[in-house]
Amino acid sequence: MLRWTETLLNTLREPPQDAEIVSHKLMIRAGMMRKLGGGLYVYLPLGMRALRKIETIVREEMDRAGAQETLFPILQPAELWKQTGRWETMGPGMFRVKDRKDAWYVLAPTAEEAFTALAKSEISSYRQLPRIIYQLQDKFRDEIRPRFGLIRGKEFIMKDAYSFDADDAGADKSYWAMHAAYVRIFERVGLKAKPVEADTGDIGGNFSHEFMVFAANGEDGILDCPACGYAANQERAERRVQVVPYQTEAGAPEEVATPGQHSCEEVARFLGRPIDQIVKSLVLLVGGKPVMVLVPGDRELSETKLRRLFGGAKVEEADEATVAKVAGPVGSIGPVGVELPIYADRALEGAADMVVGANKEGFHLAHVSLARDAKVVAYEDLVTVREGDCCPKCGATLTIRRGTEVGQCFKLGTKYSAAMGATYLDEQGVAKPLIMGCYGIGVSRTLQAIVEQSNDADGIIWPASVAPCQVNLLILDPDNAEVVAQAEALGKALEARGIDVFVDDRAERPGVKFKDADLIGLPVRVVAGAKSLAKGGFEIRRRTERDSVVVAPDKAVETIADLLR
Ligand code: ATP
Ligand code: MG
Repeated sequence: MLRWTETLLNTLREPPQDAEIVSHKLMIRAGMMRKLGGGLYVYLPLGMRALRKIETIVREEMDRAGAQETLFPILQPAELWKQTGRWETMGPGMFRVKDRKDAWYVLAPTAEEAFTALAKSEISSYRQLPRIIYQLQDKFRDEIRPRFGLIRGKEFIMKDAYSFDADDAGADKSYWAMHAAYVRIFERVGLKAKPVEADTGDIGGNFSHEFMVFAANGEDGILDCPACGYAANQERAERRVQVVPYQTEAGAPEEVATPGQHSCEEVARFLGRPIDQIVKSLVLLVGGKPVMVLVPGDRELSETKLRRLFGGAKVEEADEATVAKVAGPVGSIGPVGVELPIYADRALEGAADMVVGANKEGFHLAHVSLARDAKVVAYEDLVTVREGDCCPKCGATLTIRRGTEVGQCFKLGTKYSAAMGATYLDEQGVAKPLIMGCYGIGVSRTLQAIVEQSNDADGIIWPASVAPCQVNLLILDPDNAEVVAQAEALGKALEARGIDVFVDDRAERPGVKFKDADLIGLPVRVVAGAKSLAKGGFEIRRRTERDSVVVAPDKAVETIADLLR
Protein backbone atom coordinates (compact mmCIF):
# COMPACT_ATOMS: atom_id res chain seq x y z
CA MET A 1 0.00 0.00 0.00
CA LEU A 2 1.20 3.39 -0.96
CA ARG A 3 0.34 6.01 1.64
CA TRP A 4 0.06 9.65 0.75
CA THR A 5 1.72 10.70 4.02
CA GLU A 6 4.80 8.68 3.02
CA THR A 7 4.84 9.65 -0.66
CA LEU A 8 6.57 12.50 -2.46
CA LEU A 9 3.33 13.91 -3.79
CA ASN A 10 1.95 17.40 -4.05
CA THR A 11 -1.08 18.32 -6.09
CA LEU A 12 -1.40 21.83 -7.45
CA ARG A 13 -4.47 23.94 -7.89
CA GLU A 14 -3.03 25.89 -10.83
CA PRO A 15 -1.23 24.53 -13.88
CA PRO A 16 2.21 25.96 -14.72
CA GLN A 17 2.38 28.92 -17.10
CA ASP A 18 4.05 26.98 -19.91
CA ALA A 19 1.51 24.15 -20.02
CA GLU A 20 -0.56 24.60 -23.18
CA ILE A 21 -2.43 21.32 -23.39
CA VAL A 22 -4.64 19.54 -20.90
CA SER A 23 -2.44 16.46 -20.41
CA HIS A 24 0.61 18.59 -19.61
CA LYS A 25 -1.41 20.61 -17.10
CA LEU A 26 -2.84 17.51 -15.47
CA MET A 27 0.46 15.61 -15.28
CA ILE A 28 1.92 18.53 -13.32
CA ARG A 29 -1.15 19.36 -11.25
CA ALA A 30 -1.70 15.74 -10.25
CA GLY A 31 1.91 15.44 -9.08
CA MET A 32 2.92 12.90 -11.73
CA MET A 33 5.93 14.85 -12.93
CA ARG A 34 7.90 18.07 -12.56
CA LYS A 35 9.89 20.16 -14.98
CA LEU A 36 13.66 20.23 -14.57
CA GLY A 37 14.37 22.38 -17.63
CA GLY A 38 12.94 23.00 -21.09
CA GLY A 39 11.88 19.63 -22.50
CA LEU A 40 13.24 17.83 -19.42
CA TYR A 41 10.98 16.23 -16.83
CA VAL A 42 11.27 14.30 -13.59
CA TYR A 43 8.87 11.39 -13.17
CA LEU A 44 7.54 11.53 -9.61
CA PRO A 45 6.53 8.38 -7.74
CA LEU A 46 2.96 8.22 -9.08
CA GLY A 47 3.91 9.06 -12.65
CA MET A 48 6.74 6.56 -12.39
CA ARG A 49 4.33 3.79 -11.46
CA ALA A 50 2.19 4.48 -14.54
CA LEU A 51 5.31 4.61 -16.69
CA ARG A 52 6.51 1.26 -15.33
CA LYS A 53 3.17 -0.33 -16.11
CA ILE A 54 3.34 0.87 -19.69
CA GLU A 55 6.90 -0.43 -19.97
CA THR A 56 5.84 -3.80 -18.64
CA ILE A 57 3.11 -4.09 -21.26
CA VAL A 58 5.56 -3.05 -23.98
CA ARG A 59 8.05 -5.69 -22.82
CA GLU A 60 5.43 -8.42 -22.61
CA GLU A 61 4.19 -7.76 -26.12
CA MET A 62 7.67 -7.43 -27.60
CA ASP A 63 8.73 -10.69 -26.00
CA ARG A 64 5.53 -12.37 -27.13
CA ALA A 65 6.25 -11.29 -30.71
CA GLY A 66 9.65 -12.95 -30.52
CA ALA A 67 11.79 -9.89 -29.83
CA GLN A 68 14.61 -9.96 -27.28
CA GLU A 69 15.53 -7.21 -24.89
CA THR A 70 19.00 -5.65 -24.83
CA LEU A 71 20.36 -2.36 -23.54
CA PHE A 72 22.67 -0.11 -25.52
CA PRO A 73 24.69 2.86 -24.28
CA ILE A 74 23.15 6.25 -24.84
CA LEU A 75 26.62 7.62 -25.46
CA GLN A 76 27.69 6.40 -28.88
CA PRO A 77 30.95 6.91 -30.76
CA ALA A 78 30.72 9.39 -33.64
CA GLU A 79 32.50 6.84 -35.87
CA LEU A 80 29.33 4.75 -36.05
CA TRP A 81 27.36 7.72 -37.29
CA LYS A 82 30.04 8.63 -39.80
CA GLN A 83 29.76 5.19 -41.40
CA THR A 84 26.20 5.88 -42.53
CA GLY A 85 26.68 9.58 -43.23
CA ARG A 86 24.25 10.55 -40.51
CA TRP A 87 26.97 12.37 -38.55
CA GLU A 88 26.42 15.04 -41.25
CA THR A 89 22.77 14.59 -42.22
CA MET A 90 21.30 14.55 -38.70
CA GLY A 91 22.26 18.20 -38.37
CA PRO A 92 21.72 20.25 -35.23
CA GLY A 93 18.94 17.97 -33.96
CA MET A 94 21.58 15.57 -32.64
CA PHE A 95 23.39 16.25 -29.38
CA ARG A 96 27.14 15.82 -29.78
CA VAL A 97 29.65 15.74 -26.94
CA LYS A 98 33.42 15.42 -26.66
CA ASP A 99 35.40 13.44 -24.14
CA ARG A 100 38.61 14.67 -22.50
CA LYS A 101 40.65 13.35 -25.41
CA ASP A 102 38.61 15.39 -27.84
CA ALA A 103 36.86 12.34 -29.30
CA TRP A 104 33.30 13.00 -30.45
CA TYR A 105 30.24 11.14 -29.21
CA VAL A 106 26.54 11.30 -29.86
CA LEU A 107 23.73 11.24 -27.31
CA ALA A 108 21.63 8.78 -29.27
CA PRO A 109 18.53 10.27 -30.92
CA THR A 110 17.77 6.78 -32.31
CA ALA A 111 19.94 3.68 -32.65
CA GLU A 112 20.01 2.12 -36.14
CA GLU A 113 23.79 2.43 -36.36
CA ALA A 114 24.48 0.84 -32.98
CA PHE A 115 22.10 -2.08 -33.56
CA THR A 116 23.44 -2.65 -37.06
CA ALA A 117 26.99 -2.68 -35.67
CA LEU A 118 25.93 -5.32 -33.15
CA ALA A 119 24.26 -7.41 -35.85
CA LYS A 120 27.38 -7.12 -37.94
CA SER A 121 29.52 -8.56 -35.17
CA GLU A 122 27.07 -11.22 -33.93
CA ILE A 123 25.18 -12.46 -36.99
CA SER A 124 27.15 -14.29 -39.65
CA SER A 125 24.87 -17.02 -41.01
CA TYR A 126 21.35 -17.46 -42.32
CA ARG A 127 20.97 -19.98 -39.50
CA GLN A 128 20.94 -17.09 -37.03
CA LEU A 129 18.05 -15.34 -38.77
CA PRO A 130 15.58 -13.86 -38.17
CA ARG A 131 16.39 -11.84 -35.06
CA ILE A 132 14.46 -8.97 -33.52
CA ILE A 133 16.15 -7.09 -30.70
CA TYR A 134 14.93 -4.15 -28.71
CA GLN A 135 15.61 -1.85 -25.83
CA LEU A 136 13.86 0.67 -23.66
CA GLN A 137 16.27 3.53 -23.41
CA ASP A 138 16.45 7.29 -23.20
CA LYS A 139 16.81 9.21 -26.43
CA PHE A 140 17.96 12.76 -26.92
CA ARG A 141 16.89 15.24 -29.56
CA ASP A 142 17.59 18.91 -29.74
CA GLU A 143 14.05 19.64 -30.90
CA ILE A 144 13.42 23.03 -32.47
CA ARG A 145 10.38 23.41 -30.27
CA PRO A 146 10.27 21.18 -27.21
CA ARG A 147 6.76 21.58 -25.83
CA PHE A 148 3.62 19.95 -24.51
CA GLY A 149 5.52 18.29 -21.66
CA LEU A 150 6.36 14.68 -22.45
CA ILE A 151 4.88 14.92 -25.94
CA ARG A 152 7.98 16.61 -27.33
CA GLY A 153 10.90 16.47 -24.96
CA LYS A 154 14.61 16.95 -25.38
CA GLU A 155 15.12 13.68 -23.55
CA PHE A 156 12.48 10.96 -23.73
CA ILE A 157 12.03 7.25 -23.31
CA MET A 158 11.76 5.18 -26.46
CA LYS A 159 11.24 1.52 -27.05
CA ASP A 160 13.23 0.85 -30.18
CA ALA A 161 13.34 -2.51 -31.92
CA TYR A 162 15.28 -3.63 -34.97
CA SER A 163 14.66 -6.72 -37.08
CA PHE A 164 17.22 -8.59 -39.13
CA ASP A 165 16.13 -10.99 -41.84
CA ALA A 166 17.64 -13.04 -44.64
CA ASP A 167 15.13 -12.13 -47.31
CA ASP A 168 12.29 -9.81 -48.15
CA ALA A 169 9.56 -12.25 -47.23
CA GLY A 170 11.15 -12.69 -43.81
CA ALA A 171 11.50 -8.94 -43.35
CA ASP A 172 7.83 -8.47 -44.20
CA LYS A 173 6.89 -11.10 -41.66
CA SER A 174 8.93 -9.37 -38.95
CA TYR A 175 7.33 -6.08 -39.93
CA TRP A 176 3.79 -7.38 -39.55
CA ALA A 177 4.64 -9.16 -36.29
CA MET A 178 5.81 -5.83 -34.85
CA HIS A 179 2.78 -4.06 -36.32
CA ALA A 180 0.48 -6.57 -34.60
CA ALA A 181 2.39 -6.17 -31.33
CA TYR A 182 1.90 -2.40 -31.55
CA VAL A 183 -1.84 -2.79 -32.05
CA ARG A 184 -1.96 -4.94 -28.90
CA ILE A 185 0.27 -2.61 -26.88
CA PHE A 186 -1.86 0.45 -27.55
CA GLU A 187 -5.03 -1.52 -26.87
CA ARG A 188 -3.68 -2.78 -23.57
CA VAL A 189 -2.52 0.61 -22.33
CA GLY A 190 -5.98 1.96 -23.12
CA LEU A 191 -4.95 4.31 -25.90
CA LYS A 192 -6.90 4.67 -29.14
CA ALA A 193 -4.08 4.78 -31.69
CA LYS A 194 -4.68 4.26 -35.39
CA PRO A 195 -2.04 2.91 -37.76
CA VAL A 196 -1.78 5.25 -40.72
CA GLU A 197 0.34 4.89 -43.83
CA ALA A 198 3.50 6.92 -43.54
CA ASP A 199 6.14 8.07 -45.96
CA THR A 200 8.81 5.49 -46.65
CA GLY A 201 11.29 7.82 -48.31
CA ASP A 202 13.22 5.91 -50.95
CA ILE A 203 12.29 2.46 -49.57
CA GLY A 204 8.85 2.47 -51.20
CA GLY A 205 5.92 0.17 -50.70
CA ASN A 206 3.35 0.10 -47.92
CA PHE A 207 5.95 -0.49 -45.28
CA SER A 208 5.76 2.30 -42.84
CA HIS A 209 2.93 2.91 -40.45
CA GLU A 210 2.71 5.58 -37.84
CA PHE A 211 0.46 4.88 -34.89
CA MET A 212 -1.44 8.09 -34.45
CA VAL A 213 -3.50 9.42 -31.62
CA PHE A 214 -6.05 11.91 -32.88
CA ALA A 215 -5.79 15.19 -30.97
CA ALA A 216 -6.68 18.76 -31.86
CA ASN A 217 -3.17 19.86 -30.90
CA GLY A 218 -1.47 17.14 -32.96
CA GLU A 219 1.41 18.27 -35.16
CA ASP A 220 0.71 15.81 -37.98
CA GLY A 221 -2.07 16.04 -40.55
CA ILE A 222 -3.80 12.75 -41.28
CA LEU A 223 -6.06 12.15 -44.26
CA ASP A 224 -8.79 9.87 -43.07
CA CYS A 225 -11.47 8.18 -45.14
CA PRO A 226 -14.72 7.88 -43.20
CA ALA A 227 -16.04 5.38 -45.77
CA CYS A 228 -13.34 2.71 -46.10
CA GLY A 229 -10.92 3.37 -43.23
CA TYR A 230 -7.98 4.42 -45.41
CA ALA A 231 -5.72 6.68 -43.36
CA ALA A 232 -2.39 8.21 -44.25
CA ASN A 233 -0.08 10.90 -43.04
CA GLN A 234 -0.47 14.00 -45.17
CA GLU A 235 3.16 13.57 -46.29
CA ARG A 236 2.26 10.21 -47.70
CA ALA A 237 -1.44 10.39 -48.60
CA GLU A 238 -2.54 9.75 -52.15
CA ARG A 239 -5.74 10.80 -53.86
CA ARG A 240 -7.93 9.59 -56.67
CA VAL A 241 -6.95 12.16 -59.25
CA GLN A 242 -9.51 14.36 -60.91
CA VAL A 243 -7.99 16.08 -63.92
CA VAL A 244 -8.50 19.80 -64.34
CA PRO A 245 -11.59 20.51 -66.48
CA TYR A 246 -9.73 22.47 -69.20
CA GLN A 247 -9.23 19.74 -71.77
CA THR A 248 -10.23 21.48 -74.99
CA GLU A 249 -7.65 23.41 -76.99
CA ALA A 250 -8.48 27.06 -77.53
CA GLY A 251 -6.06 28.22 -80.15
CA ALA A 252 -2.33 28.95 -80.03
CA PRO A 253 -0.52 30.26 -76.94
CA GLU A 254 -1.11 33.95 -76.54
CA GLU A 255 0.99 36.37 -74.50
CA VAL A 256 -1.09 38.34 -72.05
CA ALA A 257 0.18 41.22 -69.95
CA THR A 258 0.03 40.56 -66.21
CA PRO A 259 1.93 43.54 -64.79
CA GLY A 260 2.98 43.01 -61.17
CA GLN A 261 0.98 39.76 -60.93
CA HIS A 262 3.10 36.89 -59.66
CA SER A 263 1.27 34.39 -57.47
CA CYS A 264 -1.33 32.15 -59.09
CA GLU A 265 -3.99 33.86 -56.98
CA GLU A 266 -2.97 37.27 -58.34
CA VAL A 267 -2.87 36.08 -61.93
CA ALA A 268 -6.24 34.31 -61.64
CA ARG A 269 -7.87 37.40 -60.16
CA PHE A 270 -6.26 39.73 -62.70
CA LEU A 271 -7.31 37.62 -65.69
CA GLY A 272 -10.68 36.72 -64.22
CA ARG A 273 -10.07 32.98 -64.48
CA PRO A 274 -10.50 30.11 -62.03
CA ILE A 275 -7.32 29.41 -60.11
CA ASP A 276 -7.07 25.80 -61.27
CA GLN A 277 -6.73 27.09 -64.82
CA ILE A 278 -3.43 28.70 -63.85
CA VAL A 279 -0.38 26.41 -63.78
CA LYS A 280 2.02 26.78 -60.87
CA SER A 281 5.55 26.29 -62.22
CA LEU A 282 8.43 25.66 -59.85
CA VAL A 283 12.13 25.12 -60.40
CA LEU A 284 13.76 22.84 -57.85
CA LEU A 285 17.18 21.33 -57.50
CA VAL A 286 16.88 17.57 -57.32
CA GLY A 287 20.19 16.03 -56.40
CA GLY A 288 21.71 19.38 -57.40
CA LYS A 289 20.16 19.44 -60.92
CA PRO A 290 17.36 21.84 -61.88
CA VAL A 291 13.98 20.33 -62.65
CA MET A 292 10.67 22.05 -63.41
CA VAL A 293 7.53 20.89 -61.64
CA LEU A 294 3.98 21.86 -62.62
CA VAL A 295 0.93 21.68 -60.36
CA PRO A 296 -2.53 23.25 -60.63
CA GLY A 297 -2.51 26.82 -59.30
CA ASP A 298 -4.48 25.99 -56.17
CA ARG A 299 -2.31 23.04 -55.12
CA GLU A 300 0.86 22.66 -53.07
CA LEU A 301 3.79 20.62 -54.33
CA SER A 302 4.71 17.78 -51.99
CA GLU A 303 8.49 17.78 -51.73
CA THR A 304 8.24 14.37 -50.06
CA LYS A 305 6.57 12.91 -53.15
CA LEU A 306 9.06 14.59 -55.44
CA ARG A 307 11.94 13.19 -53.39
CA ARG A 308 10.42 9.72 -53.56
CA LEU A 309 10.00 10.03 -57.33
CA PHE A 310 13.73 10.61 -57.53
CA GLY A 311 14.69 7.71 -55.28
CA GLY A 312 15.26 9.78 -52.17
CA ALA A 313 17.46 12.45 -53.79
CA LYS A 314 17.85 15.75 -52.00
CA VAL A 315 15.23 18.32 -53.06
CA GLU A 316 16.00 22.01 -52.60
CA GLU A 317 14.53 25.28 -53.77
CA ALA A 318 16.54 26.81 -56.59
CA ASP A 319 17.90 30.29 -55.95
CA GLU A 320 16.65 33.21 -58.05
CA ALA A 321 19.75 33.35 -60.22
CA THR A 322 19.43 29.69 -61.19
CA VAL A 323 15.72 30.07 -61.91
CA ALA A 324 16.41 33.13 -64.08
CA LYS A 325 19.11 31.24 -65.97
CA VAL A 326 17.10 28.07 -66.73
CA ALA A 327 13.62 29.61 -67.06
CA GLY A 328 12.84 33.24 -66.31
CA PRO A 329 12.29 35.77 -63.52
CA VAL A 330 10.77 34.25 -60.38
CA GLY A 331 7.01 34.78 -60.37
CA SER A 332 6.73 34.63 -64.16
CA ILE A 333 8.14 31.24 -65.08
CA GLY A 334 6.46 28.58 -67.17
CA PRO A 335 7.15 25.37 -69.07
CA VAL A 336 6.97 26.64 -72.66
CA GLY A 337 10.34 26.69 -74.36
CA VAL A 338 12.46 25.69 -71.36
CA GLU A 339 15.13 23.04 -71.72
CA LEU A 340 14.56 21.34 -68.37
CA PRO A 341 13.10 17.98 -67.46
CA ILE A 342 9.47 18.86 -66.66
CA TYR A 343 7.32 16.80 -64.29
CA ALA A 344 3.64 17.59 -63.90
CA ASP A 345 0.99 16.53 -61.44
CA ARG A 346 -1.49 13.97 -62.75
CA ALA A 347 -4.33 16.47 -62.50
CA LEU A 348 -2.71 18.30 -65.42
CA GLU A 349 -2.79 15.33 -67.75
CA GLY A 350 -4.50 16.47 -70.97
CA ALA A 351 -4.75 20.07 -69.71
CA ALA A 352 -5.29 22.16 -72.82
CA ASP A 353 -6.44 25.72 -72.16
CA MET A 354 -4.10 26.78 -69.37
CA VAL A 355 -2.33 29.93 -68.26
CA VAL A 356 1.39 29.62 -67.57
CA GLY A 357 4.22 32.06 -66.87
CA ALA A 358 5.85 33.42 -70.03
CA ASN A 359 9.38 33.42 -68.58
CA LYS A 360 9.22 37.19 -69.00
CA GLU A 361 8.50 39.71 -66.26
CA GLY A 362 4.93 40.99 -66.45
CA PHE A 363 3.62 38.39 -68.92
CA HIS A 364 1.82 35.07 -68.93
CA LEU A 365 0.78 32.76 -71.77
CA ALA A 366 -2.85 31.81 -72.19
CA HIS A 367 -4.35 28.88 -74.16
CA VAL A 368 -1.40 26.63 -73.42
CA SER A 369 -1.85 22.94 -74.11
CA LEU A 370 0.72 21.07 -72.06
CA ALA A 371 0.88 18.11 -74.45
CA ARG A 372 1.38 20.40 -77.43
CA ASP A 373 3.41 23.30 -76.02
CA ALA A 374 5.57 21.84 -73.24
CA LYS A 375 7.89 18.88 -73.00
CA VAL A 376 6.48 17.11 -69.96
CA VAL A 377 8.53 14.01 -69.10
CA ALA A 378 5.90 12.42 -66.90
CA TYR A 379 2.63 13.04 -65.06
CA GLU A 380 2.99 11.90 -61.47
CA ASP A 381 1.25 12.29 -58.14
CA LEU A 382 3.06 15.39 -56.89
CA VAL A 383 0.74 17.41 -54.69
CA THR A 384 -0.07 17.34 -51.02
CA VAL A 385 -3.47 15.77 -50.54
CA ARG A 386 -5.99 17.92 -48.69
CA GLU A 387 -9.42 17.68 -47.16
CA GLY A 388 -12.06 17.25 -49.83
CA ASP A 389 -9.84 15.19 -52.14
CA CYS A 390 -11.05 11.73 -53.12
CA CYS A 391 -9.92 8.62 -51.26
CA PRO A 392 -7.43 6.65 -53.40
CA LYS A 393 -9.06 3.38 -52.32
CA CYS A 394 -12.80 4.05 -52.57
CA GLY A 395 -13.28 7.56 -53.98
CA ALA A 396 -15.15 8.94 -50.95
CA THR A 397 -14.30 12.41 -49.68
CA LEU A 398 -11.29 12.51 -47.38
CA THR A 399 -11.29 14.46 -44.16
CA ILE A 400 -8.22 15.78 -42.42
CA ARG A 401 -7.57 15.26 -38.74
CA ARG A 402 -4.73 16.29 -36.46
CA GLY A 403 -2.70 13.60 -34.75
CA THR A 404 0.30 12.85 -32.59
CA GLU A 405 2.56 9.95 -33.44
CA VAL A 406 3.08 7.50 -30.59
CA GLY A 407 4.84 4.80 -32.58
CA GLN A 408 6.22 3.94 -35.97
CA CYS A 409 7.09 0.78 -37.88
CA PHE A 410 9.48 1.09 -40.76
CA LYS A 411 10.90 -1.38 -43.23
CA LEU A 412 14.46 -0.20 -43.75
CA GLY A 413 15.62 -2.75 -46.30
CA THR A 414 19.41 -2.75 -46.62
CA LYS A 415 20.00 0.96 -46.13
CA TYR A 416 22.01 0.57 -42.91
CA SER A 417 23.33 -2.96 -43.36
CA ALA A 418 24.78 -2.09 -46.77
CA ALA A 419 26.35 1.14 -45.50
CA MET A 420 27.92 -0.63 -42.53
CA GLY A 421 28.76 -3.96 -44.17
CA ALA A 422 26.42 -5.99 -41.97
CA THR A 423 26.15 -9.18 -44.02
CA TYR A 424 25.37 -12.84 -43.44
CA LEU A 425 26.25 -15.94 -45.45
CA ASP A 426 23.30 -17.56 -47.18
CA GLU A 427 22.87 -21.31 -47.77
CA GLN A 428 25.20 -21.15 -50.75
CA GLY A 429 27.83 -19.33 -48.72
CA VAL A 430 27.22 -16.03 -50.50
CA ALA A 431 27.51 -12.86 -48.42
CA LYS A 432 24.31 -10.76 -48.45
CA PRO A 433 23.28 -7.63 -46.57
CA LEU A 434 20.84 -8.16 -43.71
CA ILE A 435 17.35 -6.90 -44.42
CA MET A 436 16.21 -4.66 -41.61
CA GLY A 437 13.21 -3.01 -40.08
CA CYS A 438 13.00 -0.55 -37.20
CA TYR A 439 10.15 -0.02 -34.80
CA GLY A 440 9.84 2.79 -32.26
CA ILE A 441 7.37 3.62 -29.53
CA GLY A 442 7.56 6.86 -27.64
CA VAL A 443 6.98 5.41 -24.19
CA SER A 444 7.03 8.68 -22.28
CA ARG A 445 4.94 10.35 -24.99
CA THR A 446 2.47 7.46 -24.73
CA LEU A 447 2.16 8.07 -20.98
CA GLN A 448 1.04 11.63 -21.55
CA ALA A 449 -1.02 10.78 -24.65
CA ILE A 450 -3.11 8.49 -22.45
CA VAL A 451 -3.86 11.42 -20.15
CA GLU A 452 -4.59 13.67 -23.14
CA GLN A 453 -7.20 11.19 -24.33
CA SER A 454 -8.63 10.27 -20.95
CA ASN A 455 -9.60 13.11 -18.64
CA ASP A 456 -12.50 15.33 -17.64
CA ALA A 457 -12.95 18.73 -16.04
CA ASP A 458 -11.90 17.33 -12.65
CA GLY A 459 -8.72 15.53 -13.66
CA ILE A 460 -7.13 12.43 -15.08
CA ILE A 461 -9.07 9.22 -15.76
CA TRP A 462 -6.42 6.48 -15.80
CA PRO A 463 -7.19 3.26 -17.66
CA ALA A 464 -6.97 0.47 -15.06
CA SER A 465 -4.07 -1.23 -16.89
CA VAL A 466 -1.66 1.67 -16.41
CA ALA A 467 -3.07 3.59 -13.43
CA PRO A 468 -0.39 4.37 -10.83
CA CYS A 469 -2.59 2.38 -8.44
CA GLN A 470 -5.96 0.84 -9.18
CA VAL A 471 -7.73 1.96 -6.04
CA ASN A 472 -7.70 5.24 -4.19
CA LEU A 473 -8.71 4.53 -0.59
CA LEU A 474 -9.69 7.71 1.21
CA ILE A 475 -9.64 7.58 4.96
CA LEU A 476 -11.87 10.43 5.97
CA ASP A 477 -11.34 10.13 9.70
CA PRO A 478 -7.70 9.19 10.20
CA ASP A 479 -8.10 9.74 13.98
CA ASN A 480 -10.88 7.21 14.27
CA ALA A 481 -9.26 3.86 15.15
CA GLU A 482 -12.23 1.82 13.92
CA VAL A 483 -12.24 3.55 10.53
CA VAL A 484 -8.47 3.13 10.15
CA ALA A 485 -8.64 -0.55 11.11
CA GLN A 486 -11.40 -1.24 8.57
CA ALA A 487 -9.57 0.66 5.85
CA GLU A 488 -6.27 -1.08 6.57
CA ALA A 489 -7.95 -4.46 6.46
CA LEU A 490 -9.55 -3.66 3.12
CA GLY A 491 -6.25 -2.39 1.73
CA LYS A 492 -4.49 -5.60 2.72
CA ALA A 493 -7.24 -7.77 1.27
CA LEU A 494 -7.10 -5.88 -2.03
CA GLU A 495 -3.34 -6.21 -2.25
CA ALA A 496 -3.66 -9.92 -1.57
CA ARG A 497 -5.88 -10.01 -4.68
CA GLY A 498 -3.17 -8.27 -6.71
CA ILE A 499 -4.96 -4.92 -6.70
CA ASP A 500 -2.66 -2.04 -5.83
CA VAL A 501 -3.93 0.55 -3.42
CA PHE A 502 -3.14 4.17 -2.78
CA VAL A 503 -4.29 5.41 0.61
CA ASP A 504 -5.10 9.02 1.24
CA ASP A 505 -4.34 9.00 4.96
CA ARG A 506 -3.76 12.73 5.28
CA ALA A 507 -5.43 14.81 7.95
CA GLU A 508 -7.33 16.84 5.36
CA ARG A 509 -10.94 17.83 4.93
CA PRO A 510 -13.08 15.37 2.91
CA GLY A 511 -13.62 18.00 0.19
CA VAL A 512 -9.87 18.29 -0.36
CA LYS A 513 -9.49 14.53 -0.57
CA PHE A 514 -12.35 14.17 -3.05
CA LYS A 515 -10.92 16.89 -5.29
CA ASP A 516 -7.45 15.33 -5.22
CA ALA A 517 -8.87 11.87 -5.88
CA ASP A 518 -10.57 13.17 -9.01
CA LEU A 519 -7.43 15.01 -10.08
CA ILE A 520 -5.13 12.01 -9.62
CA GLY A 521 -7.72 9.88 -11.36
CA LEU A 522 -7.27 6.33 -10.09
CA PRO A 523 -9.96 4.03 -11.53
CA VAL A 524 -11.83 3.18 -8.31
CA ARG A 525 -12.41 5.44 -5.34
CA VAL A 526 -13.22 3.92 -1.97
CA VAL A 527 -14.27 6.12 0.93
CA ALA A 528 -13.80 4.86 4.47
CA GLY A 529 -15.27 7.17 7.09
CA ALA A 530 -17.31 7.03 10.27
CA LYS A 531 -20.37 8.14 8.27
CA SER A 532 -20.06 5.51 5.58
CA LEU A 533 -19.34 2.76 8.07
CA ALA A 534 -22.44 3.79 9.99
CA LYS A 535 -24.35 3.45 6.70
CA GLY A 536 -23.07 -0.12 6.44
CA GLY A 537 -19.65 -0.10 4.81
CA PHE A 538 -17.44 1.66 2.25
CA GLU A 539 -18.62 4.09 -0.38
CA ILE A 540 -17.32 2.82 -3.68
CA ARG A 541 -17.44 4.33 -7.14
CA ARG A 542 -15.58 4.40 -10.41
CA ARG A 543 -13.66 7.54 -11.30
CA THR A 544 -16.07 7.97 -14.19
CA GLU A 545 -19.25 7.75 -12.12
CA ARG A 546 -20.94 10.33 -9.97
CA ASP A 547 -22.77 8.10 -7.49
CA SER A 548 -21.23 5.75 -4.96
CA VAL A 549 -22.66 2.54 -3.64
CA VAL A 550 -22.27 1.55 -0.02
CA VAL A 551 -20.77 -1.92 0.20
CA ALA A 552 -20.37 -4.02 3.31
CA PRO A 553 -16.73 -4.62 4.30
CA ASP A 554 -16.90 -8.35 3.54
CA LYS A 555 -18.21 -7.68 -0.01
CA ALA A 556 -15.93 -4.77 -0.84
CA VAL A 557 -13.04 -6.71 -2.42
CA GLU A 558 -15.38 -8.50 -4.83
CA THR A 559 -17.17 -5.28 -5.79
CA ILE A 560 -13.88 -3.48 -6.45
CA ALA A 561 -12.45 -6.37 -8.46
CA ASP A 562 -15.62 -6.35 -10.58
CA LEU A 563 -15.39 -2.61 -11.18
CA LEU A 564 -11.79 -2.98 -12.33
CA ARG A 565 -12.56 -5.78 -14.76
P1 ATP B 1 7.80 13.31 -34.51
O1 ATP B 1 7.38 13.31 -35.95
O2 ATP B 1 6.67 13.42 -33.55
O3 ATP B 1 8.92 14.25 -34.22
P2 ATP B 1 9.54 11.17 -35.17
O4 ATP B 1 8.89 10.59 -36.36
O5 ATP B 1 10.68 12.08 -35.34
O6 ATP B 1 8.43 11.88 -34.25
P3 ATP B 1 10.68 8.61 -34.52
O7 ATP B 1 12.05 8.88 -34.94
O8 ATP B 1 9.80 7.80 -35.41
O9 ATP B 1 9.96 10.00 -34.17
O10 ATP B 1 10.73 8.03 -33.03
C1 ATP B 1 9.89 6.99 -32.54
C2 ATP B 1 8.90 7.52 -31.52
O11 ATP B 1 9.53 8.31 -30.52
C3 ATP B 1 7.85 8.43 -32.11
O12 ATP B 1 6.79 7.67 -32.65
C4 ATP B 1 7.42 9.25 -30.92
O13 ATP B 1 6.39 8.57 -30.22
C5 ATP B 1 8.64 9.29 -30.04
N1 ATP B 1 9.29 10.61 -30.07
C6 ATP B 1 9.98 11.16 -31.09
N2 ATP B 1 10.46 12.36 -30.76
C7 ATP B 1 10.05 12.59 -29.48
C8 ATP B 1 10.24 13.67 -28.56
N3 ATP B 1 10.95 14.74 -28.88
N4 ATP B 1 9.69 13.56 -27.32
C9 ATP B 1 8.98 12.47 -26.98
N5 ATP B 1 8.78 11.43 -27.80
C10 ATP B 1 9.31 11.48 -29.05
MG1 MG C 1 8.36 8.73 -36.77
